[in-house]
Amino acid sequence: MKPPPFIHHAPRDLGAALRTLAEVRGKVLAGGQSLIPMLNMRLAAPEHLVDINRVAGLDTVETTPAGVRVGALVRHSEAERAGLHPLLTRALKLVAHPVIRNRGTVVGSLVHADPAAELPAVLAVLGGHVRVARRDGNGGMAVRDVPAGEFFVGPMESDVRPDELAVSAFFPALGEGAGVAFEEVARRHGDYALAGVCAVVSPGEVVTAKVACIGVGPVPVVVELDAGETDWRAVAARVRDATEPEDDIHASAAYRRHLVGVLAERALRNAAREGAAARGA
Ligand SMILES: Cc1cc2nc3c(=O)[nH]c(=O)nc-3n(C[C@H](O)[C@H](O)[C@H](O)COP(=O)(O)OP(=O)(O)OC[C@H]3O[C@@H](n4cnc5c(N)ncnc54)[C@H](O)[C@@H]3O)c2cc1C
Repeated sequence: MKPPPFIHHAPRDLGAALRTLAEVRGKVLAGGQSLIPMLNMRLAAPEHLVDINRVAGLDTVETTPAGVRVGALVRHSEAERAGLHPLLTRALKLVAHPVIRNRGTVVGSLVHADPAAELPAVLAVLGGHVRVARRDGNGGMAVRDVPAGEFFVGPMESDVRPDELAVSAFFPALGEGAGVAFEEVARRHGDYALAGVCAVVSPGEVVTAKVACIGVGPVPVVVELDAGETDWRAVAARVRDATEPEDDIHASAAYRRHLVGVLAERALRNAAREGAAARGA
């Protein structure tokens, strides 16, 4: 199918992009790997598309000891190849197929906020944020950093207003020797997962751990473990109980709930093993 008619805007700098968004309140086009299929299937019919692919300065990556900031035009494949962050790299390998990863953007995935997408869970478990910009009343730029816990509002809904552009996402660095894992089950390789769990386990005097689950609620379900809690099977049961899966044509809610428990235990064990190996235990 063909998309409904739209007016294409192709700003060349951030100021022009924000001005256009303030004026027309159109849909932002980044990699187009979710938006274009939605247009073709007539699930969306925006009058204006604000194509950010020519906007200078949005394809940058900034790595500091605190973490990595990924610009809005950094593609999945670039982020994956660059090995920017151990958990991000792990998750990116599970996102769709290489052809889609060549165009799709990290920030676009976050804004799109599919409940089964991997990257929202990564941002949520790490406690990162998305930087969002808009034109202010004086023709300048107003910026806000939205923490992951507030950014994902509902299924396919994130906290980006119609006159705003998500300019970057920040993924905090892992603590010394922390182990990570991302476990998921999809019907076919490259499909969205039926359910998935990412885990960060930090060793030390007292082990700390956190998981985020996908495909089992409207937004990533984050569970922070009590300090020193290492009975992964018991924790997995608690994670399972924290989720709110629904039946759909792909799987029943009961199956998804069972699956997320199994995956949580596996992810925690694997992350703990990786952390232990990193500190030579
Ligand atoms: C067959 C197929 C399988 C897929 N499988 C998976 C999968 O397993 N896991 C997964 O996570 N994803 C999957 N995807 C989606 C893919 O990862 C997309 O690339 C991603 O969801 C969106 O990134 P994009 O840059 O293409 O965004 P676009 O398609 O350009 O935009 C998506 C939405 O986000 C908005 N948006 C994008 N960037 C910005 C911005 N900077 N500021 C404000 N709004 C913005 C757009 O307006 C639009 O509403 C799949 C896609 C396909 C076609």
